Amino acid sequence: MEPTHDEHDHDPSQQEMEKELKQVFEKMPEEIPVYLFAQPGKNDIFADTARQAIQYFSQLTNKITFHEFDLNHDQAKKWNIENSPTILIDPEHYNIRWLGAPIGEEGRIFIETLIFVGFKKTDIGQQAANVLNQIQDKRDIKLFVSPSCPYCPQQAVHALKAAVEKPDLISLEIIDIQANPDIAREYNAQSVPQTFANEMLIALGAQQEELFMLSLQKMEQQTMFIPDNDAKEIETDLVIVGGGPAGLSAGIYAARSGLKSVILERNILGGQVALTSTVENHPGLTQIGGTKLVEILVSHALQYVQIFQGEEVMAVSKGLPMTVTTNNRRFITKAMLLATGATHKHLGAPGEAQLSGRGVSYCSTCDGPLFAGQKVLMIGGGDSAVTESLHLKNIGVDVTVVHWTDKLDAQEVLARQLINSGIPILYNSTVKEITGEKSVEGVTVVNSQTNETKQIEAAGVFISIGYIPSVDLADKIGVEKTPEGFIKQKTYRTNIDGIYAAGDVVGGFNQIVTASGHGAEAALTIFRDLLNYKAD
Ligand SMILES: Cc1cc2nc3c(=O)[nH]c(=O)nc-3n(C[C@H](O)[C@H](O)[C@H](O)COP(=O)(O)OP(=O)(O)OC[C@H]3O[C@@H](n4cnc5c(N)ncnc54)[C@H](O)[C@@H]3O)c2cc1C
Repeated sequence: MEPTHDEHDHDPSQQEMEKELKQVFEKMPEEIPVYLFAQPGKNDIFADTARQAIQYFSQLTNKITFHEFDLNHDQAKKWNIENSPTILIDPEHYNIRWLGAPIGEEGRIFIETLIFVGFKKTDIGQQAANVLNQIQDKRDIKLFVSPSCPYCPQQAVHALKAAVEKPDLISLEIIDIQANPDIAREYNAQSVPQTFANEMLIALGAQQEELFMLSLQKMEQQTMFIPDNDAKEIETDLVIVGGGPAGLSAGIYAARSGLKSVILERNILGGQVALTSTVENHPGLTQIGGTKLVEILVSHALQYVQIFQGEEVMAVSKGLPMTVTTNNRRFITKAMLLATGATHKHLGAPGEAQLSGRGVSYCSTCDGPLFAGQKVLMIGGGDSAVTESLHLKNIGVDVTVVHWTDKLDAQEVLARQLINSGIPILYNSTVKEITGEKSVEGVTVVNSQTNETKQIEAAGVFISIGYIPSVDLADKIGVEKTPEGFIKQKTYRTNIDGIYAAGDVVGGFNQIVTASGHGAEAALTIFRDLLNYKAD
């Protein structure tokens, strides 16, 4: 931001910019009062710069009026001003304040602020507006910026849009970390931009507009945005049911082959991977958190296919093309891939169902942190049970493994890690009952060798004894199954023309890469079949 008019009278680009700004400001329907609060002797350099910046704009147009007060003035008390300099922009209508001076990159933010406030509207995108409109409670945003940060204006503009679009619910404080090092230290804001809402960190770095609004709505950093689609009928080549690795990789392969494809997920994207703490066997990714891997897979798939989350298939018509009816709309499609995966098995022990969600859990990634410092039992001895036990120990949970035979079923490398970790293992042990009034208090365990029964006190029981294929939809539409209950398929084709299946739902090794491989192969098979279908 340049302080005075005269210095740049000879600079043609500056003159051009001023001319454009004047034209924009003149079109603003009402005056914007801009208040500067400054206390001589406090941050004078920033106060002087802020004063010059506001004066500069108010010289360009009579639509911007400049008012200055010191921190002892009644106006400072009225608006609870504590820091010098603080700028308020139209405080009777908006809750937007600036702690510092709008210089450098921040000058761009200041111009946007004046324009948004002056016109009392912003150019927020429809998808972002939809998310913003879902916010029903107050959000007090604090955005840390600096004059030399080129990413800050992007994030600041999103925050401004939120504050201008919803002035009753959303307040915004833009905090220059150079002018306010104490506040930056208090919030541990050592990099910019950083966004807090209601004192919680919701974003590190600059985001896309939709992701900013989603982070503000959900009150935590969001990295994926699935656009809304309110179409009631969608024509497509392929409907993929299931948003786990099989479905996501099928989506990428199908779309890259030229098939118009959609993915329908009734629950959370990523399937079982979303419930996995750490993945260590995905080639190319030495060690990665399950949710991070889901983010990568979903973001990649979104480059090619539309994903519909919260979409449950209710009915599928017979014949081709088929109509797939969900809870929200209809899809007219030439093919459908069932990539519905698997869900955890139940133990079937007394107490399990009654105490489910009250100490009985099937997802240590989700519920493990609730048991930090407490004793829990992990029932199972396969890959998942072992990985999850190590995860629980890592987050400070006192875990004991209960396994029904005398040898762990997990891969050797995992079994060795468990044994070396010092986590106690009760071999040859089965759960007779899970006990507790309001929540889990203990577990009765029987030793199958000695028939000895013991009551173990525990606040939680994690059950990880295997998976059953999710075949509810397959059953509904009459897809044939194997004697073990998986979908029966040959090169991913089921007994019904146009319906295919891939991933854990067809059995096999039940791994992320095998599911992804199935998804890719199934998509290519469908592509070939549809080429023939088109030719017929
Ligand atoms: C705790 C745990 C740890 C694991 N750790 C590893 C590991 O370290 N390495 C590894 O390789 N594998 C691991 N696995 C296994 C791996 O996650 C699975 O093999 C893989 O996710 C299977 O992928 P999928 O796409 O076939 O099915 P899933 O991941 O089960 O996804 C299927 C999706 O379909 C959805 N769905 C089901 N029915 C419908 C319907 N009717 N309509 C719409 N959507 C539907 C489900 O909600 C789900 O999101 C782990 C599994 C678990 C549970």
